[in-house]
Amino acid sequence: MKSGLKDFNRKMRGFDTGTIMGLESKTSAPIQVIREADGSCAGFKNLFVIGEGSGYAGGIISSAADGVKVAMNIIENS
Ligand SMILES: Cc1cc2nc3c(=O)[nH]c(=O)nc-3n(C[C@H](O)[C@H](O)[C@H](O)COP(=O)(O)OP(=O)(O)OC[C@H]3O[C@@H](n4cnc5c(N)ncnc54)[C@H](O)[C@@H]3O)c2cc1C
Repeated sequence: MKSGLKDFNRKMRGFDTGTIMGLESKTSAPIQVIREADGSCAGFKNLFVIGEGSGYAGGIISSAADGVKVAMNIIENS
């Protein structure tokens, strides 16, 4: 970090003093769409809601896993 910041300061002045802060905030959807057991959106035929926006995941892997789960359901039931 020390040497990296020294190097960075050579390229962009103004980073030789200060306090480093790291922040990770969670901003996933605070709502969850109501869906049926097969993953379809309640009240809508052939509309499958998956992933973060629908409130069923909170990251890359859980979104992908939720998508695979619902896709498998669609394939198995078609
Ligand atoms: C800056 C940042 C950093 C992140 N870092 C991480 C991390 O390190 N690890 C982690 O696990 N997660 C991370 N995430 C969260 C992760 O990216 C999301 O949880 C994940 O991508 C959600 O996947 P999704 O398929 O549900 O939605 P999205 O990836 O948002 O996909 C939605 C898709 O729908 C499309 N779309 C939207 N509206 C329409 C429309 N009307 N018609 C057609 N298409 C439409 C969009 O273009 C988009 O392609 C990060 C997110 C951000 C913003």
